[in-house]
Formats: sequence, C-alpha cells, structure tokens
Amino acid sequence: MTDGHDTRHSTHAPATRTAQALGRIAPPYAEIVPPIHLSTTYERAADGSFPGRTYARDGNPTYDQVEAVLRDLEGGAAAAVFSSGMAAATAVFQALSPGDHVVAPRVMYWGLRKWLLEFARPWGLAVDFFDNESPAQLDELRSLVRPGATKLVWLETPANPTWAITDVAAAVEIAHAAGARLAIDATVATPVLMRPIELGADIVMHSATKYLNGHSDVVAGALIAARDDDFWQRIRYVRATNGAILGPVEAWLLLRGMRTLFARVEIACRSAQTIAERMAAHPRTVAVLYPGLPTHPGHEIARRQMRGGFGGMLSIRVKGGEAAAMDVAARLRVFKRATSLGGVESLVEHRASVEGPDTPCPPDLLRLSIGLEAVGDLIADLEQALDG
Ligand SMILES: *Cc1c(COP(=O)(O)O)cnc(C)c1O
Repeated sequence: MTDGHDTRHSTHAPATRTAQALGRIAPPYAEIVPPIHLSTTYERAADGSFPGRTYARDGNPTYDQVEAVLRDLEGGAAAAVFSSGMAAATAVFQALSPGDHVVAPRVMYWGLRKWLLEFARPWGLAVDFFDNESPAQLDELRSLVRPGATKLVWLETPANPTWAITDVAAAVEIAHAAGARLAIDATVATPVLMRPIELGADIVMHSATKYLNGHSDVVAGALIAARDDDFWQRIRYVRATNGAILGPVEAWLLLRGMRTLFARVEIACRSAQTIAERMAAHPRTVAVLYPGLPTHPGHEIARRQMRGGFGGMLSIRVKGGEAAAMDVAARLRVFKRATSLGGVESLVEHRASVEGPDTPCPPDLLRLSIGLEAVGDLIADLEQALDG
C-alpha cells in the first residue's frame, strides 16, 4: 500500500534492517522518513465501503511500519503497538476468560504483579506465582500448571529488579504440555539479545517506553505473536475496544527510536558488564546482580538463551542496608535519580521504597539503568558515591 522497497525478507543482518526501518520508501515523494497520519476518520465510498481505513481506534497507518519492524525484530507473524507496556501486557490477560488459570513469576515488573492481584483476580482469573529466583523454579512451575485449566504462563527474563533468569525453552515445554500459551515480558532483554519466539514463546511483550524507543520521551507498548490465530485476533480486539491505542506521533517517534536500537543496546551491554565487574570488586557492595557475572545464579542459562550481551540493567546491594543505599543514590551526580530504564541517560532507583511493603526486592538494592555516557564517568560517579 504505502510500502516501497521492503527489505524484510532480505539476507541483511537485523541491525541493517532495523536501522533502515526495513528500507521502506513512502510514496508519492519517496520519503526515507515516513509521514505521520493524524486523521481519526476515513471517507466511505459512495457504495458504503471503505477504500482506505475506517476509524483510528481500530488502527492507524502510522503503525504499519512500526509493527512491521517489530515483527521482523522478533521473527513473529504479527505485531501490535499499544498505548503503554501495561496496556500491552494487560491486553493479553484480558483476552482470556474469567475462570482461566494463569501462572506468573514472583519477581516481575511490579506494576503488572499489582494489576494481576488487584484487577485480574477480582475479575475472575485464577493467578498463581512461581518463585523465579529458586533453583527449582521449573519444578515449581510444573507443579502449578493444571493441564486444561492453565491458559497462560507469563515469564519475565531477566526479571525486574534482581534480573532473575528463567529458561524460556524449558518453560515453553511445560506450558505447552499443559495446553497453555507462553507469553514473555522481554523488555530488558530486547530483541537484540534474545528472540523468545525462536525459543518457542507464543507472545512477546515489550514496554517500548524503554529500550525500543530508547529516549525517555514516549510511553508505548508492543506485542508480537508467533502466529496470527484466534487468540491474537482477540488481543487486537481488546486493543480496539478498550482504546489502548498509541498516538500517531508516539508511533512515529518509536520508529525513529528503534532505528538506533542495535547501537544503543550494544553500548549499554558493554558498559553494564564493565560496571558490574568493577562494582562486584568494590568493598562497599554486598552483591552485584547482573546476569553477565559468573556469580549470578542465572548466568549459564542467560549465556545459552541471550546473544551478544546480558543487557544494560544491573542492581547493586549496598553495605549498611537501606539508609546506606539511599545515601549512595543521593550522592550520585551523573546517574539521575528516576524511575524507568532503557534510555540514553543512566538512571538509579531505590526499588524497595517504590514497590512498597510486600516487595520481594531487598531494601539495600539500587537498580541501575546504564545509558550511553562514557563508562569511565559512570564508574567514577558510582565510586565517589559509594566511598562517601
Ligand atoms: C516499564 C516496564 C513495564 C511497563 O511498561 P509501561 O510502558 O511503563 O507501561 C513492563 N515491564 C517491564 C519489564 C518494564 O520495565
């Protein structure tokens, strides 16, 4: 339709296809950068048919190229953008029916865990959590799934904020053996480092607010499906009826951000690995949680299912407990004290105080999102803050 040259099926590397947003050229002006479509409504032909689109809550032409790039990045059959990561994640659960059983990890994005407890359960979903920090997590998952009743297994790996790792292929086997789909929040891994559909996942979710957009200026979410089946169509229907749609300007910004995804993730991973190694050796840290360290309990599995790095997120546990951790955060100057992650600027956050009293997050933990600053500046900042 508006597509010119499409490199989706080319033999070029994913980094090439993503940098060029699949190489599409928009007619009639042969634009390298696509236009933004603002119209909310579309004219019917005299016979009542729609020659173009219908109404912007059903979808917007500005989504087309963004969703094509997302599909390509994850190797999926279909993709949909949403108004936020939460809107994307909750659409998956809302496509289920009251009475269905789902299993999710104990350590996971806090907002979604709260939504499962406060909205999904009262609405009628049966929700169980497995301990994804336990070495026996797969046995626990296996014991929780109920063949026939369990419709969805939700994963997050690496999982916020301890970066617990789950073996995706093994969890897929458990889910599928019980007749359940497997969906995964792969926000932190990004499609650069992990491709869950290749590991057997049915649905991949991203908070596109984070690495995909990468500039802390868009709230957006994305789902990518391995198959365009009835369940996927129901998810799309949830988006349209709930109005969980992304604005066209945000969709355009997201496409702009994704073009630099590979370069950003590569730098963030390299710096995070260096910082994790340096912080692990620092006398004022109790522990450094980063899947790229051989001491991390998920290191071996992460090495198998991630490629090219272990992500830009790490957490440090500070000697002296919560107060000491707060003091370190207060002394940081290059790192900004802010929530969120995956942007070009490095951020620090004390997660336990954000997540509240029943958090599984240790009180001495500071979560670091590593950005694109010179790694020497980030290390010097952390060292001066830890040394007090
Ligand atoms: C931020 C985040 C979400 C929620 O996404 P929003 O875009 O803020 O709605 C979900 N999962 C993970 C891992 C996140 O970091």
